[in-house]
Order: sequence, then C-alpha cells, then structure tokens
Amino acid sequence: MKFQSTRGKAPLVSGLQALMNGLAPDGGLYVPAVFPKLDFDWEKLKDASYVAIGTQVLSLFFDEFSEAEITNFLTEAYENFDYPQKVKIQELDSRKDLLELFHGPTLAFKDMALSLLPYLLTAAIQKTQHKETLVILTATSGDTGGAALNGFNNVAQTKIVVYYPSVGVSKLQRQQMTTASGKNTHVVAVTGNFDDAQKAVKQLLIDQELIQRMQARSLRFSSANSINIGRLAAQVVYYVYAYAQLVQKGRLKAGQTLDVTVPTGNFGDILAAYWAKKMGLPLGKLTVASNANHVLTDFFASGIYQADRDFKVTSSPAMDILVSSNLERLLFDLAGADSVAGWMKDLAEKQTYEIDDKTLAKLQKQFNAAFCDSAQTSQTIKKIFTENNYLLDPHTAVAVAVNENFPSPDQQLIVSTASPFKFAETVLTALGQTAAADPELNLNKLSQFSKQTVPAAIADLFTKKPVHAQKLAIKDLRADLIETLGL
Ligand SMILES: *Cc1c(COP(=O)(O)O)cnc(C)c1O
Repeated sequence: MKFQSTRGKAPLVSGLQALMNGLAPDGGLYVPAVFPKLDFDWEKLKDASYVAIGTQVLSLFFDEFSEAEITNFLTEAYENFDYPQKVKIQELDSRKDLLELFHGPTLAFKDMALSLLPYLLTAAIQKTQHKETLVILTATSGDTGGAALNGFNNVAQTKIVVYYPSVGVSKLQRQQMTTASGKNTHVVAVTGNFDDAQKAVKQLLIDQELIQRMQARSLRFSSANSINIGRLAAQVVYYVYAYAQLVQKGRLKAGQTLDVTVPTGNFGDILAAYWAKKMGLPLGKLTVASNANHVLTDFFASGIYQADRDFKVTSSPAMDILVSSNLERLLFDLAGADSVAGWMKDLAEKQTYEIDDKTLAKLQKQFNAAFCDSAQTSQTIKKIFTENNYLLDPHTAVAVAVNENFPSPDQQLIVSTASPFKFAETVLTALGQTAAADPELNLNKLSQFSKQTVPAAIADLFTKKPVHAQKLAIKDLRADLIETLGL
C-alpha cells in the first residue's frame, strides 16, 4: 500500500513514511494511491469486537505491520476507555441511532484516533530504523490538544507541541491542556483562532530551514492533526464497527443503506465515513453539519469556498473553523491533483476558490450540508433531554438539529463527538439552569440535574495545577519552536 499527495508533486511513500511525515512535502495531504476494499461478511462482523474490526481495517492501510502488531496497538490504545465496547450505540428513535465516540480519556472523539496514533508512529520509527525524535506539531480548536497530549504523554522518542487559541476553548479544555504533565509536552496559547494556528503549523511543517536545523539535532516533524493519515485510518474503523453493531441489534439488515450525519469542523470525521463508503460500506447520504461558521454549507450549495468572512465563536468550539483541511482529500478524490493544486493556490492567495460544475454535482450527489446556530443548538439540547431523557453535547446537538433538515427513508446514524460534561456550562444553560463561573461546580450541577455521574476521566481534573502558562502571537511561534527545541 502506497500513499500519494493530493497536490501531485510529492513522491509516493509507504504507510510508515506517510505516518511520520504528517504533511506531504508539497503541502498536500496523503491519500491511498489505490483504495483498499473491505470484505464484508456481516454474519461474522456483527459479532466481532472493536479491536477485531480495527485490525481488519487498519491492516489494509498499513500493510507493513502484522495483524498481531495492529491488534496489540488497538488493545493497548483503548485499554482505559470507560465503555467496554469502546464506542456505544444509543437508540434515539425507531429510525435514528447516535454513535457515541467519547468514551476515551479526554471525552471527545479525538481520542479514537489520538490514543492509537502514538502506537502507529513509534512503531513506524522503529520499523524504519529512524533514530530521530519526532516533534508532533499540533494546532487545536480545543479537543485535539487534550487528546494528543494524553496520547503522547511521555512516549519515548516524541515531543508534543500544542498551540491552542486563547479565545474560544472551554475552561475544561484549557485545564486539560495546561495541566499536561509529560516531560515531552509544550503547550502555548496563541492570540488568534484555530485557522491562524493551523495555517502557521502547516507552514512550519514544510519550513526547509527549520527542517535542516532539526536534522542537525536529530529531530523530525510530524503532525497529530487530522492531516495525518493515521488519524483518518483509525476513524474509518468506527463506521464499520457501528454498521456491524446495527446489524447485530437488528436495526439494519446486512447490505441495507445507512445515512450518516457528522458535526463537522476540519472535515476529518466525515471524510472517514466517505472513505468507509469507498471501501464498500453500504452508506448512503453523508450530511455535513456545521454551526454559525457555515463555510462548508455555503460551499456545498454554491461550489464557492469563501474563507474570507467573520469568524464566530460559538457554543460548539471544535467546529469553529473556516479553513477545513480535509476537504482537500475529498476534492482530490472527485477532481484529481491538478485541480486541487490550483484551488489550494487560490485559497492561499485569495482566501477563496471555485470548483467546476461537474465536481460540484458529484459532491451534491453524495453529501447534504446545513448549519444550525447556537440558539437552535440550545433548543435541541433541551428538546432531546425533555423528550428522550438523553443529554447531548453542543456539537452533537448541531448534528441532531441538522439531520432534521433531510428526511430520508433510510436508517440514520448521527455521530456523537463529545461528552456533555465536557461542555457542562453550555449544556446547563440550554437546560434552563444557571451555570456557575467555576467549571468544576458545573460538572456537579450537571450531574445532579441529569442524574448521571461525572465521567471518571475528568473527576479530579480541577485539582491539578496548570503548568503551561505561555501565551504568544502567531508570528512568534517559529521563534518559540527554535527556543523550545534548542535549534
Ligand atoms: C474535532 C471535533 C469535531 C469536528 O471534527 P472534524 O473531524 O474536525 O470535522 C466535532 N465535534 C467535536 C466535539 C470535536 O472535538
């Protein structure tokens, strides 16, 4: 299995190399040169464990690893999840199920990939006999940072650097990041939003002068953002597993179409669904759910990507993104490297690009897109709690609300990306309760009101002392790296 760049100007590489590089040297993203096909024997798969299905899927992407190795990675990566099956299917009504992906250590779906990525990366270093230390450079809108710091905490031969926006992340997310205790962690608040941070990180990852200085110190960049192919591959697994479980529960007949709705920011989670479909999973329409930063909704309607617009801080901060990186991988699949390279050049130079009608028609055939503002998000949290006695986090609430826009005869799977306790303040307010200024108090309030226990993973989070207090402007990040890495 080989991987190519979406911009067509970088050499084909092995899976191990793609994992370590993160970003391709031409600035593009790695995608499989040929898509593997899954062999779906639902009679067998419906009883298979998450680890067993994960082994089957990931072996197709990374054939340099043996199945036994992959099984070990998965087993260890998900060992401390608080739900034995790792992901939970929650029935909403006769036609809709939620896929809860937040049972990992930082209570967001980022754990699904970022608990596993360190195992894939360190094994890739060992197999390729690289002696360098990997510097995992990460921009976050809030959830990737915590999950990456947790996953790479004190992992040998890695340093993990996280840049998070000083405005927009929740108090709990900030606490998760600033209390990261690993000796290999470096966490900085940046003045700017996620887009600014992600753009800076992408530039640093291919900064030749920096890369040379790093080589002299036996250091090498990689990425924990969803530009890393390892994250995407890990995310394909849960769509296959969810389908198998729905067959097992009698919610789906083997082969029946399943529509999927995903609360979307950087387009990684929904792209994994698209890849699962390409690999043969019987998925129907894929619905891109956005918040008030509805750049994707507009793009899927008009074919014009317009990043030059006001950035809004919403109640679903992980989706506050105007430049959605993984869309590039979808466009590559539909239109090829030459078109993508041109569009990405336009985006970099003019903050906008327009795709051709043929590509737009292909997009619209497979995807729905709509958005929901913070007021509707609140109403949805309240409605679902009142009617179903089920607590939604604000990101999942966006998806539940948007899903209503697209009536379909098919079964619906709505991806649930975070625990409501991670956004307790927003959830309490939506439920008509008064939120306190103290985030720890809000956990207890939400617990009492909903009669659910605070997840163990964050029960003692606020007893920890923050150790990372640094705050920098975007323009100073390069100098910060030089200093912190001793270049
Ligand atoms: C990251 C995140 C999203 C968006 O996922 P993408 O893969 O970036 O589209 C949605 N919800 C939550 C809670 C997240 O952390």
